[in-house]
Amino acid sequence: MPVYRISLITGDGIGPELSGSVSAVLEAVGDGPGPRLEVSELAAGDAALRDCGEALPGATVEAIRGSDACLKAPVGESAADVIVVLRRMLDLYANIRPAKSYPGMPALRDDIDMVIVRENTEDLYAGKEVDLGGSAAVALRIITGRASERIARRAFKMAAGRGGRGRVTCVHKSNVMRVSDGLFARSCAKVARDYPGIEFEQMYVDACAMNLIRRPQHFDVIVTTNLFGDILSDESSQAAGGLGMAPAANMGDSFALFEPVHGAAFDIAGRDAANPSSFILSAKMMLEWLGERNGDPKCAEAARRVEEAVRGAVGEGIRTKDVGGDKTTSEFTREIVSRLAP
Ligand code: ATP
Repeated sequence: MPVYRISLITGDGIGPELSGSVSAVLEAVGDGPGPRLEVSELAAGDAALRDCGEALPGATVEAIRGSDACLKAPVGESAADVIVVLRRMLDLYANIRPAKSYPGMPALRDDIDMVIVRENTEDLYAGKEVDLGGSAAVALRIITGRASERIARRAFKMAAGRGGRGRVTCVHKSNVMRVSDGLFARSCAKVARDYPGIEFEQMYVDACAMNLIRRPQHFDVIVTTNLFGDILSDESSQAAGGLGMAPAANMGDSFALFEPVHGAAFDIAGRDAANPSSFILSAKMMLEWLGERNGDPKCAEAARRVEEAVRGAVGEGIRTKDVGGDKTTSEFTREIVSRLAP
């Protein structure tokens, strides 16, 4: 039976508490007939910068490269030196951000089930900024046909495979940014022609921001550029129940890294108050990905059980404070672990 090596960046702020929770969940999943998972904890972020002078130590990068998948808890002020570098280094070009309302969540509706597929390597986040003498600055918005087609293909494959509404919404602002977003929109439309069974529509980003509140049930898969995807995915997670429930994945062609959408939440760190669901559901995405990649039904089954455990607990009112409950991080974790017992 294969042993999957999982690298786990424990992070800053609420990161270590979330990591403890995910480790317990993965241990429970690996018991009995579950997949064999070997989790190694790694340092990166503010604590690593303090302790070893680097936010992303070389040993951490080596260990990630040697693993089958990476789980990353949120890191603090040094986030850009960790996640942005890892995304680039490992060519994790697709940022996948599901927003799904579970029963009993403080969601806008209980039938929200969408995924935002966000291009992860270019746009205003490519880091091409120029200081024009202190009183002016310019940031370059990089959009290429290659990256746009690659992310569109990922979105259409996802729409074809996930059993949703079978619709891809391409979100951009090509009426204003005619050249850059014009290229993004044309690239998506080109890929759409290869998927005649999937409905394709285009929406301006401001209309999308409104529709995520007005009729979030409309969306299935949204494909968009880096900055718009960053903003819209915080909005969609709030529509579906809040950041505490929001998982994400950064995927390349041969490796993937899974992390919550939210940051290190220093305001509640160390108080046993964080909702670990965002990271537990990120681990569920990892199990799904390992299952698909290795053709291993044990991983797919483990992913299903983890999601069922979260859905069951929150549906029965066993919730952390951020989603209207009174459970601590450890109490909620114990509940999930007990539901995963073989
Ligand atoms: P970043 O800029 O790194 O995204 P941020 O400071 O904007 O971080 P987050 O850390 O993402 O904000 O979180 C915003 C707020 O949402 C936090 O202050 C916290 O109160 C709440 N929050 C985020 N994640 C969780 C969680 N897992 N459980 C409970 N509350 C959370």
